Amino acid sequence: MTITGTEASDRLNDLAGTVQVLRDTFARGTTKPFSWRVGQLRALRRMLLERGPEFEDALAADLAKSPTETQMTEIGPVLGELDFTLRHLRSWLRPSRVTVPVALAPAFAKVIREPLGVVLIIGPWNYPAHLVLAPLVGALAAGNAVLIKPSELAPTTSALVARLVPQYLDPAAVQVVEGGVEEATELLREQFDHIFYTGNGQVGRIVARAAAEHLTPTTLELGGKSPVFVDDGADLVEAARRIVYAKSLNAGQTCVAPDYVLATPATAAALLPHLKNAIAEFYGTNPRESADYGRIVNARHFERLTTMIADRQVTLGGDYDAETRYIAPTVVDGVSADDPLMRDEIFGPILPIVHVSGVSEAISFIAQRDKPLALYVFTRRTSVERRFLRDTSSGAVGLNVPAAHLLVPRLPFGGVGASGSGRYHGRYSVDTFSHSKAVLSKPLKPDTLRLIYPPFTELRDVI
Ligand code: NAD
Repeated sequence: MTITGTEASDRLNDLAGTVQVLRDTFARGTTKPFSWRVGQLRALRRMLLERGPEFEDALAADLAKSPTETQMTEIGPVLGELDFTLRHLRSWLRPSRVTVPVALAPAFAKVIREPLGVVLIIGPWNYPAHLVLAPLVGALAAGNAVLIKPSELAPTTSALVARLVPQYLDPAAVQVVEGGVEEATELLREQFDHIFYTGNGQVGRIVARAAAEHLTPTTLELGGKSPVFVDDGADLVEAARRIVYAKSLNAGQTCVAPDYVLATPATAAALLPHLKNAIAEFYGTNPRESADYGRIVNARHFERLTTMIADRQVTLGGDYDAETRYIAPTVVDGVSADDPLMRDEIFGPILPIVHVSGVSEAISFIAQRDKPLALYVFTRRTSVERRFLRDTSSGAVGLNVPAAHLLVPRLPFGGVGASGSGRYHGRYSVDTFSHSKAVLSKPLKPDTLRLIYPPFTELRDVI
């Protein structure tokens, strides 16, 4: 299909028109009442419950996700977020009274949460439903109008979200715009009241620059290399199971997947057979035949990943197939710090193991690099846990458990430094999508302010 100049300009005008519709809806106050917010959240819940099979099909088409994995990692977490929010929203929105300094008494002060306006949510392809719908929960709960731009790299899920959302949610307040870089670029020229972006740091910078033009606040949910330290004496059977599980979900295309392991040479050697057993236990001796093992999203990412292992000795796995974009769970032991595997986030089922001399070297290895989205420590020693908590910085820490922290709705989810800024989930989402407005009220009588009015003749002696 050829897109003519007129069609392209019509489409771009449509984007501006869509944003204007949302702006008008917000200005009319439609999205502010508590009942509207709850109504939308319940409708979103219904959508997920009624249309589960369509999401399962879409994610199977885009990423070969098994229906169980789709329920567990795409639909389940959003339902969890919805239920938690519906249960607590009233109390989260209650104004919080604060005390005032004696010098201002008598007076009353409180913080009220007001919605920001029109929020743009830009999502990635790896959890293409979850990562646009979970922020949507917070944005609606906080009373905003929302524009969603799902990732074009998961086209079936993007089309499904675009088809279902207007059937369930108020189309005057929630819109979905499909498309890729061109549409995203055009959208970013519009003025929003908040931009919530999930994806890689390069595009994160583009989003932040575009947002700065309008002084729009952003939440940047980015990625990076999340390390796992396996301590000498750790429970290696369980560590291996948990590492393989978190690394193989969605074929490693998970922002909080363990990116690489740090261990002493002896612990690494002892861990390897357990990693091998865990892979076989979960996916059989030929993971290619497992219905529970996903595929790489597209040829470009397949190429990027296979180049890293093509001409080298791997320790476990290593086979791949371009036609189906299958890459076996792969482990490469004894990787050096300057290896290509250690340059960028792997975002695939390849696990390098880097040898260190112990806890201190592991900590300085991590501290010399970008602050990770998550850091995992397998150890039996609380002193080691304490050292990692004190001496490293990361979006989150999982002690003997990778990736699962994002399922705890009372924990903030987000990065720090290169892994992102801002946080969401539960109450943190409502805070992210609200403005905390300060309100001070002072009775006119007694007029204690008179004490500080000029002329300052008397004050001069007191201050
Ligand atoms: P992606 O390529 O789908 O891009 C993300 C979004 O940015 C898409 O909607 C895309 O259309 C848009 N985009 C692309 N180029 C753009 C441009 N020039 N201007 C404006 N928008 C543009 O996804 P991705 O970035 O490959 O996602 C993977 C990355 O996301 C990994 O680094 C991963 O760690 C990170 N991630 C982070 C989280 C988190 O919650 N912190 C979750 C998932 C993924």
